[in-house]
Amino acid sequence: MGRYTGPACRLCRREGMKLFLKGARCYMAKCAIDQGHGAPGMHVARRARKMSEYGRQLREKQKLRRQFGMQEVQFKRFFREALRREGVTGELLLQMLELRLDNMIYRLGFASSRRAARQFVLHRHILVNGRLANVPSIVLKMGDVVEVRSQARSRDLATRALEAASTQQTPGWVSLDKKAFRGEVLAVPTREQIAPIVNEQAVVELYSR
Ligand code: SF4
Repeated sequence: MGRYTGPACRLCRREGMKLFLKGARCYMAKCAIDQGHGAPGMHVARRARKMSEYGRQLREKQKLRRQFGMQEVQFKRFFREALRREGVTGELLLQMLELRLDNMIYRLGFASSRRAARQFVLHRHILVNGRLANVPSIVLKMGDVVEVRSQARSRDLATRALEAASTQQTPGWVSLDKKAFRGEVLAVPTREQIAPIVNEQAVVELYSR
């Protein structure tokens, strides 16, 4: 199945919560969730029933996957890698997702949403450790330096996004030099710093069935 290209708000409505997929709009009164729009579809009321344990786990997984705009195959690949590593699988999965290049661009404020950050990377506006990087799913590590390319177009786009995100707080696990359009991974983020919107243990349980 291909990448979802439909309306982002529909995904939030399906999950019944804000997934913050549209940048500034997510903080405005126009947000579909804030306006009280329920799940999409004509027969939603009829579908409403007690959710099974499997259903609950599936919804948690879908929320996390949709938050990061990933396809199932890629998401499962991340999970397998988290499972392979030593430590708490759920937390490792969250850390890997948080350290994705597109997420880092979003967290630094160089793009207004993860979707926009993905585009920004794909359009070759980003350097990682001084080298062009156009793969949004790269998982960064401590000490990696991310930089917006010096060409005017890249800097213009990043400047506009930074201005729009001026009230956004930079997470503690990265450093940001706005003047140099540069950020660095200072540490692997903790679960508290990530503050996940889902119960990641449910995702682990789902894939462990
Ligand atoms: Fe989700 Fe943002 Fe749309 Fe609100 S505005 S429903 S948070 S994508």
